[in-house]
Amino acid sequence: MTSALKEIINKAENTHELTKDEIVELFANDEITQELCKAADRVREKYVGNEVHLRGLIEFSNICIKNCFYCGLRRDNKNIKRYRLEPEVIIDFATKASSYGYKTFVLQSGEGNIYSLEEMLYIISEIKKLDVAITLSVGEKTEEEYIAYKEAGADRFLLRIETTDKELYQKLHPGMSHENRINCLKTIKKHGYETGTGCLIGLPNQTLESLADDILFFKEIGADMVGVGPFIPNEDTPLSFETGGSFELALKVMAITRLLLPDINIPATTAMETLNSQGRLIALQSGANVVMPNVTEGEYRDLYKLYPGKICINDTPAHCRSCITGKIQSIGRTVSKECGFRKQVR
Ligand code: SAH
Ligand code: SF4
Repeated sequence: MTSALKEIINKAENTHELTKDEIVELFANDEITQELCKAADRVREKYVGNEVHLRGLIEFSNICIKNCFYCGLRRDNKNIKRYRLEPEVIIDFATKASSYGYKTFVLQSGEGNIYSLEEMLYIISEIKKLDVAITLSVGEKTEEEYIAYKEAGADRFLLRIETTDKELYQKLHPGMSHENRINCLKTIKKHGYETGTGCLIGLPNQTLESLADDILFFKEIGADMVGVGPFIPNEDTPLSFETGGSFELALKVMAITRLLLPDINIPATTAMETLNSQGRLIALQSGANVVMPNVTEGEYRDLYKLYPGKICINDTPAHCRSCITGKIQSIGRTVSKECGFRKQVR
């Protein structure tokens, strides 16, 4: 590795600032991956410690009115059986998972008004009674809806920008607006949510420059959480024949995100594990400090098919919890017993 590249990593580790050109240089050189991941691991330990936060993921409906080119839940995909869990079932999944020790739930679904506002507020407020933190991942909503969810007890919101390349965004998201996506993120932030965003790695025609812009965008928007993952082509979508993202590039984007946003929460994403059987452990040793085990039960796990090769579709929530706990302990880390809000270092 050249000393110039080492210098860039040192600068990132010590100042948490890099220029776009410097980020691109790190992306373009594969011999630095290990050094980069080690630096991200040190920064992770220094700022957010050795605890790993588990967030129980409930995939409560796969119905979607949007048509994102990469996603298996897109409206035009007729090859999946759609489902919508009843509010009582969602609350039941959360109640059971809370008895295994989960302190945060992520409620994720496709988009559209699949539930009335009243139903959403009921689900949020009932789950909130379990003394847990609630993260929503339900896409673009109106400001009034974001406010109402927050008042009912939602603490965090995940909305990936997917890509900051506006032209690419418009191509992959028919009928959607990049500007509105950014506005939603600003609205979420404004109303006091811990705000999560992130991007897909390896979209067709995505450049390294735009990935560098993505990381700078996370910083600019004041993200509290950033989830990045490789794009995995789904055969039921218009992008079925694309190559998809590489594990290594996704890992590098994640590691640089940790270096530049040292105190945020970063999940080791499921898509990383789909590409590499040790993916989440490698990610946890390269900057990540969060894992989102699935606590959805039964056939719904399999039906929530954003991309193929999704892990653990036949496992139970109890199995997933003990499996991931064992893995986390095997690398000398501990599972947190707290809700795991961002520990902001100012
Ligand atoms: N409908 C909500 C939440 C569900 S989708 C939303 O869009 O925000 C959650 C995430 O899945 C998306 O943000 C996207 O980044 C990811 N995703 C969808 N299709 C994917 C694919 N083929 N490969 C990898 N990730 C994918
Ligand atoms: Fe729907 Fe989200 Fe998939 Fe887009 S990414 S099609 S909004 S579920």
